[in-house]
Amino acid sequence: MTLSKEQFRERAYAELLDKANIAVDGIRVSDEVAKATGAGVTVKEGGHLQRGGPVVPFSFRTPTGLDVGIRPSPAADYELRHNGRENSFYVTRDGEVVYDKVTFEPRPKYYDYLTSDGRPMKEIVSIVTNGCAAVWYSNECAFKERGEDCLFCGINYRPGDAFLKTPEQIAESVKAAYDEGVGWRVDFTGGVIPERREIEYYSDAIEAIQDTLGRSDLIAAACVAGPRELSNLDRLREAGFSIITMNIEVWDENFFKTICPGKARMVGRENWIKALEYAAELYGAGHVRCNFVTGIEPKFRTLEGVEYLSSVGVVANPNIFHPAPGTPLEGTRCPTAEWNLDLQERVCDIQRRAGLKFEDIINVHPVTTGLFHDFWRIKEELLPGFAPATA
Ligand code: SF4
Repeated sequence: MTLSKEQFRERAYAELLDKANIAVDGIRVSDEVAKATGAGVTVKEGGHLQRGGPVVPFSFRTPTGLDVGIRPSPAADYELRHNGRENSFYVTRDGEVVYDKVTFEPRPKYYDYLTSDGRPMKEIVSIVTNGCAAVWYSNECAFKERGEDCLFCGINYRPGDAFLKTPEQIAESVKAAYDEGVGWRVDFTGGVIPERREIEYYSDAIEAIQDTLGRSDLIAAACVAGPRELSNLDRLREAGFSIITMNIEVWDENFFKTICPGKARMVGRENWIKALEYAAELYGAGHVRCNFVTGIEPKFRTLEGVEYLSSVGVVANPNIFHPAPGTPLEGTRCPTAEWNLDLQERVCDIQRRAGLKFEDIINVHPVTTGLFHDFWRIKEELLPGFAPATA
């Protein structure tokens, strides 16, 4: 049956509410169902394997086209289930079907390849969504060593066990992703390393990628601490990065000092904001991202930050707060799905009012498992189900 636009919109919003609940509370996936999905064999797996959990798909796609991240939680109300007769998968809440026939992304072939120094490429570069070849380049964070790491962050660096992926490993793995057609942009992330080393490392890494791919016109994102020395942002641009991410995490000054003590001490809130403003001028509107961890500070303070940053062309990206085990915030939890949906819809509305476009959102944050992307895609009628039916 073909749905009218209004019916489709209503259905997409209903699916979004379930997606928000899954984003907040997780989803049950039995070992048997996880195995039946083919995760890690034919279906792209998430990172939970590395933390000792079941091998599960990275995400699933709902019937209206929403991408839902899979975060296994044995106590969740939602469950991924397998229809063995049809070999299809569906999702229930308390036994009732909420998504029928969900689908998974195929596993990149290069995940089975090794770099020339013998490292599995999937550990160097992983594909998220929309061609995003993600490089978690290091587990080192200068703040961790000083006991000033952000209170929600589970970066697992301990003095002596730091890893730093080499530019050569990254370049080879990115090339494999590009050659296969599953990656078409590179997004770096990792802990904070002191300014000079950070810039030099990024410059070496992007140069290696450019040389290996034989081109310099890359969509490439660097994630850095707001530099006190603003010319470092020029250096990254000259090196070939087209997108910069600098995550302030919370907007309120006092929360910033408490939740992100290293960022507050080393950079300071005012300098962080100045760096975001400078980057938006230099890289252009829609080429700078600032993540927030939402649900720690009052909603209105986060929205003040989103409002201001949107007005200067920075894309604020609200991430749902999930404190990592072993952190000072372990045991606290994020607000309800409804709270998060309200915030993320308001983020979308603020961004649209400020003149940002969905292309800007996808450009700086191609990971469509977030909720505000869906508000954009529903409000702007970008989901495939909005397209007029053809005869
Ligand atoms: S800066 Fe904060 S969020 Fe980023 S890696 Fe370090 S401790 Fe974690």
